[in-house]
Amino acid sequence: MHPAQPTASHFINGEYIEDSSGAPIDLIYPATGESLGRVHAATPEIVEQALASAKAAQRAWAATSGTERGRVLRRAADLIRERNRELSVLETYDTGKPLSETLYVDATSGADALEYFGGLAGSLTGEHIQLGDDWVYTRREALGLCVGIGAWNYPTQIACWKGAPALACGNSMVFKPSETTPICALKVAEILCEAGLPPGLYNVIQGRGDVGASLVSDARVDKVSLTGSVPTGRKVYAAAAEGIKHVTMELGGKSPLIIFDDADLENAVGGAVLANFYSSGQVCSNGTRVFVQSGIKARFLERLAERMATARIGDPQDEAVNFGPMVSQRQLDIVLGYIEQGKAEGARLVYGGTRLDQPGFYLEPTLFADVHDDMTIAREEIFGPVMSVLDFDDEDDVIERANRTEFGLSAGVFTQEVTRAHRVIASLEAGSCFINSYNDAPVEAPFGGAKLSGVGRENSKNAINHYSQMKSVYVRMGDVEAPF
Ligand code: NAD
Repeated sequence: MHPAQPTASHFINGEYIEDSSGAPIDLIYPATGESLGRVHAATPEIVEQALASAKAAQRAWAATSGTERGRVLRRAADLIRERNRELSVLETYDTGKPLSETLYVDATSGADALEYFGGLAGSLTGEHIQLGDDWVYTRREALGLCVGIGAWNYPTQIACWKGAPALACGNSMVFKPSETTPICALKVAEILCEAGLPPGLYNVIQGRGDVGASLVSDARVDKVSLTGSVPTGRKVYAAAAEGIKHVTMELGGKSPLIIFDDADLENAVGGAVLANFYSSGQVCSNGTRVFVQSGIKARFLERLAERMATARIGDPQDEAVNFGPMVSQRQLDIVLGYIEQGKAEGARLVYGGTRLDQPGFYLEPTLFADVHDDMTIAREEIFGPVMSVLDFDDEDDVIERANRTEFGLSAGVFTQEVTRAHRVIASLEAGSCFINSYNDAPVEAPFGGAKLSGVGRENSKNAINHYSQMKSVYVRMGDVEAPF
């Protein structure tokens, strides 16, 4: 058995559960295209077990003190850090992302979320509002049973970013990872359990969209948090609306990165690399429309192509490698299709653009210049390592063009002029923004999108509002005056 093969497909009520009558889901290793093993999609019985155990466990958990809940989360964070290498290797098998990334940003960022929300749990309070002799107090209460549904690009991180605030607030969770990356969330569930989380509070079940849909439509579910594409977001949001459920939607993007003439060249190039090629470009917040002012364009493109040529592409388990394969054949085909479309519509291919002639889903980091706003590669989310460079001269013009998109996840600006940096960022319609940087996502900062890119925020104190609700209690100290 391959070490990436999980003990069983699902983790319910504190233990691994198998039900091999569910549809098979192969664990395809993106670096080789080989199957490392298999899990099975949840059958209706498995879905029922997961929801029933989450429902049954939630009340008692919400009745514990925040400090007690936080202690469990912080213990889980410590266990994750202790096992970072083992978890990072698994993340690399699950996604194909290079170990040189996963060692630093996946399990570690999951641990950050558990530590941060574990720390906050004990300080979650309501307030007291004096009204003469009468008064109102508010109680911050859990929502109840939360469903988390993940995308395939950050399976450990997403499982923790949803689970940590949910559990800190006294909720339970049923989490369904993407069918493309089923492995890592099971480890998160196992570790939470080992850290002392009572059974039933964090369950993981496998499956495709139909399993996700059956979770969302269940009447016992109070909240749904989805990380995925806009089309899926529309369906899940609509299904949640039927039951007036709370939602958090972390969806796609086509974010602008604006580089002014006065930008520090090396930093701007580094920012553009981070905004397009980290995780082989499979990052929702990527700044894939890179607007470059005409005075710096030639030097920017030259230096960027030079630095792209130093990418070390290869076996993602080799720590010297810093650029891995695409997650799947399907995603590779989608991205190759966009590259062909870019060429056909007249964009100038400056670097890359070809699939590597070897097993696995490898594609070169790719750079297009002379891209226009109306080209398909400048409008649609590609979700792969394809950067589009667009030209501009005027600040107001570039802001208008940058905002001319249905998406609004992220935006970045590189300039050394401090007032311009803040002025431009203030005008951009996006949730997570960067000045002279790109793609930082510390747990202390709210993360999420505007426009079609999403609803609600993950991380930071802000996430607490999306996993709890206020009960307000009016207390009358005198007699009740009634009209009759
Ligand atoms: P996807 O939308 O295809 O799938 C996301 C998840 O939804 C999967 O687990 C899938 O099984 C499930 N699903 C599909 N149909 C469903 C339905 N009808 N009901 C319930 N669940 C359903 O997305 P993907 O291809 O896995 O991920 C890539 C997308 O995710 C990109 O658009 C990317 O931008 C986005 N993303 C966003 C963020 C963010 O934080 N904003 C982070 C990562 C990825």
